[in-house]
Amino acid sequence: MNRLRLATAWLDGCSGCHMSLLDIDEKLVELSEKIELVYSPLVDFKVIPENIDVALIEGAVSSEADREEIFILRARSAILVSFGDCAVTANVPGMRNKFSLEDTLSRSYVENATLGKCIPLDNVPKLLEYAKPVHEYVKVDYFLPGCPPPAGVILSTLTDLLNGRLPAIEGKTRFGA
Ligand code: SF4
Repeated sequence: MNRLRLATAWLDGCSGCHMSLLDIDEKLVELSEKIELVYSPLVDFKVIPENIDVALIEGAVSSEADREEIFILRARSAILVSFGDCAVTANVPGMRNKFSLEDTLSRSYVENATLGKCIPLDNVPKLLEYAKPVHEYVKVDYFLPGCPPPAGVILSTLTDLLNGRLPAIEGKTRFGA
């Protein structure tokens, strides 16, 4: 059997969703026999490959770099999953949305800075006006809520997808869980 080509992405999130993925613990060994991790912050591939079977997307779309990454991932993935509350609703990154971009940047780089008080213009991704959930930019096939989604639900979702079934997550996870 061909292994499922899995990608995971870390947009504007805290990496907690990826930590929950790792919390599958020893089942990761079993899973690794059925899955090929082709792009992820957990590995060192720099380029998003073609022909991804499933992409798990953690985090909101907050910057131009996030937006570019999600467009490419969507174009190259058969199934795209909003992975965790930040991807599904913008959640924590979305808390900045009620402030102007200028105020947000000033708060981070000037008001709360002790050294080098200035807003960087080079070599950092340009923030978008709002942090938005993934489905505001691209079609999402499945939503996996939770902050983070529990490890067991991530495993059952991947197992269902591996077996060609629709993921059955009702009652197993919830927003803010
Ligand atoms: S959903 Fe929660 S755990 Fe996942 S990236 Fe957002 S804040 Fe972190």
